[in-house]
Amino acid sequence: MYTSDNLRKLHPVVEDLIAKKETAWLNEELFPTDVALSSCLLSEDDVRDAEQRMERFAPFFVKAFPETAVTEGIIESEVREISAMQQALVNYSGSKIAGKLFMKFDSHLPISGSIKARGGIYEVVKHAETLALEAGLIHLEDTYEKFASEEFKKFFSNYSVAVGSTGNLGLSIGIISAKLGFHVTVHMSADAKEWKKNLLREKGVEVIEYASDYSLAVERGREQAENDPSCHFVDDENSTDLFLGYAVAGLRLKRQLAEQGIEVNPENPLIVYLPCGVGGGPGGVAFGLKLAFGDAVQCYFAEPTHSPCMTLGMATNLHDKVSVADIGLDNVTEADGLAVGRASGFVGKVMKPFMSGCFTVSDARLFELMHLFYGAEGLFLEPSAFAGMIGPVMVPGTDESATHLIWATGGGMVPEDMQQVYLTKAKQMYSTRSGS
Ligand SMILES: *Cc1c(COP(=O)(O)O)cnc(C)c1O
Repeated sequence: MYTSDNLRKLHPVVEDLIAKKETAWLNEELFPTDVALSSCLLSEDDVRDAEQRMERFAPFFVKAFPETAVTEGIIESEVREISAMQQALVNYSGSKIAGKLFMKFDSHLPISGSIKARGGIYEVVKHAETLALEAGLIHLEDTYEKFASEEFKKFFSNYSVAVGSTGNLGLSIGIISAKLGFHVTVHMSADAKEWKKNLLREKGVEVIEYASDYSLAVERGREQAENDPSCHFVDDENSTDLFLGYAVAGLRLKRQLAEQGIEVNPENPLIVYLPCGVGGGPGGVAFGLKLAFGDAVQCYFAEPTHSPCMTLGMATNLHDKVSVADIGLDNVTEADGLAVGRASGFVGKVMKPFMSGCFTVSDARLFELMHLFYGAEGLFLEPSAFAGMIGPVMVPGTDESATHLIWATGGGMVPEDMQQVYLTKAKQMYSTRSGS
């Protein structure tokens, strides 16, 4: 256990974190991508393997989730310029934003409406594939439409899946596991929204609620799986499969930007702002982006001022050995997808040489940005999705040749009435803002 006093000595940014002051930390241990990759446990081959597995499952997705038919079973989101928001952000912040502003809409990924539709779904289908291959039910060259059959469902009903979640991971793991026929249990932390629990129960998922935070929900999921050999635990804090599922996004984004004629090279850098909870989502995506673009991409992670676990872990190099509670923070935030007090040690260590930095945002600002964005682009996103939005203002030294990419991570499945509640609050918070 570390005390605030000795953590303060490890890095000056800790002072700001303790004060819940919005702040940025720049990584002085960022390495050239080829150097960082040469000592990394994971490689491009691992990400390609994940990408190919998702392609094998495309016929299954089309069959089981007809909304994926338009992309032929590829679970992908749109990327596009948000110039109205760029103007709104300039007016709001009083800062110039050199370069163009783009958004990646993982908020509207099919099946589960958040970035978790990448890693979460990947890990479960990989597990299903492994079981089916071992049982001789499928061969790599078969059509994976078979995974939607009654025969497969019956087979998977002998197995279970468990996960601990603040909401969106549970949604993703729950929906895909139930569809395949697994018995699935989601251990939900207190932050998780009621509608997510209800939706999962409707789909036949067992939801267990906890009055405490995410770490305990994860612990309970882990225990459940330890006592049951037929149970697969999706370990958000340590899973390589989740990470690789997220990383596929990097390779695909390269194609998407090329299709739009957006150049990315050292003279035209891509600067990406990723909301961060435990770290797997932004870590995996950033890893994929580094593979795709090398040193031409810079990745920043964004966190709420009440839950800056990755900033704290990275700046002090203590990773999962330190929690925000150690510096007196409560880990309470409306950005429920980011309400994590202790970062993944696995992700922290893997990503240290690749990431450019981290920054923190207040909850008030998330709502102000929600209001601005709704006015400018006419779209709702959940609070977590706005953590990266202020990035282009926080990060210094860019010029007209830069492409800023805000990774919008969630909101596509929030019910209409809940959206209205959020938007009303956002409007109020915007009109009473202190101008900070
Ligand atoms: C989970 C989540 C994130 C962050 O992903 P981590 O893997 O927890 O870091 C960001 N935004 C939303 C909406 C999420 O649900």
